[in-house]
Amino acid sequence: MKEHGLTLLRAGWLLPISAPPIQDGAVLVRGDRIIAVGKFREMPTETVSVLLEFPDGILMPGFVNPHTHLENTLFANKIKRDQPFDKWLLQMVRLVRSQSFDDAFASSMEGVKELVKFGVTCVGEFSRLGASFIALREAKLRGVVFKEFICLDDGEAERQLVELKNWLETVEPDRDSLLNVALGPHAPYTVTPLAFKKVLELAEKQNLRLCIHAGESPFERKFVEQREGIWRWWLGGVLRNAPLGLSPIRYLDWLGVLKPETLLVHCVQVDDADIAVLAERKVWVAHCPRSNANLKVGTMPLTKMLAEGVNVCLATDGLASVDSLSPLDEIRFAIKLAQEHPKIYPSLPPNRWLRMVTLDAAAALGVDKFVGSLEQGKQADIAVFRTSSKVKEPFEALLFGAKETALTMIAGKVLKGDSELP
Ligand SMILES: [Zn+2]
Repeated sequence: MKEHGLTLLRAGWLLPISAPPIQDGAVLVRGDRIIAVGKFREMPTETVSVLLEFPDGILMPGFVNPHTHLENTLFANKIKRDQPFDKWLLQMVRLVRSQSFDDAFASSMEGVKELVKFGVTCVGEFSRLGASFIALREAKLRGVVFKEFICLDDGEAERQLVELKNWLETVEPDRDSLLNVALGPHAPYTVTPLAFKKVLELAEKQNLRLCIHAGESPFERKFVEQREGIWRWWLGGVLRNAPLGLSPIRYLDWLGVLKPETLLVHCVQVDDADIAVLAERKVWVAHCPRSNANLKVGTMPLTKMLAEGVNVCLATDGLASVDSLSPLDEIRFAIKLAQEHPKIYPSLPPNRWLRMVTLDAAAALGVDKFVGSLEQGKQADIAVFRTSSKVKEPFEALLFGAKETALTMIAGKVLKGDSELP
């Protein structure tokens, strides 16, 4: 007797992430959930109504990309990615100022296609206009949407907070099991201390997570710590009421925002004292090596950060600073970095890198109970990559051979399947 809606996915290799690889493995899905993971021969094939087979495929949990800017997707053709951060930022400000909501929405939809193509089923999206929230909702992607907040002047803080609260109210009815909302105070240098504290209060009151860009460039550090450098002329008054002499990380700690529910993005320009604070506060750090290299801000001291116990996951950042939203491309670049900077950047085993774009990234977004690994009871968010030849070592085959997915599934629904699927 076949059970309607019971789907079995079989693949040459299964990478559950939370357990060792399984050869000729299968995942049993009922509705939006995984109900069994194991060897194909142990599965109840007589009751399944749909059987999807990928003999040359590698099946794994969908990637979690913890930091994207989908609204910037169409800036990709308008901005030079490979240039110093200060010049890039000026170009970005000009592009952002002239972007309409419709343009941001179209841009986000393009970004979503790119994510699905590369097997990303969950994102940590930094949304300036809220357009990407709507795009993600329509496309039925999973994610946490951090609403960007910038406030350069205390006189504007109250009005901007009202706007933020209004946005939270408007999206409230749309919040379903696939999308969570959260707050994105942009960076230590773009939000006044007073406004930062108000955003923090709001986050605590409404139980919302936080995401902040921090320790990205030497310009930021010079400005936040000493109010020096060229940013003094652009951003002069923002930190008027902030203490002098604190690095961006220690300044955020002074504000009280460093908590396990906080996700910091970049953290390239960090010293030993910063690393100790990050480890002690148990914050998550989203590491974006391709973006950092393109914008020439330095290389994260990842070896030291991991040794000191900092929680680090891997993200692509947006298409204004990188050339794909593929977590596999990000890992490939990180592996190259380790060869170029062996003193500060580690050579990690492939399963460790993959964890940083699945289970760890899910933990950074607070959704690891639901996604990030193939486990009974978790959501059926799945990516399958085809490989060209007989696979002996699935991690290597995935990292060095895989491109687009043969199947991308979110909550048991197929968002992308190649033509060979029934
Ligand atoms: Zn960012």
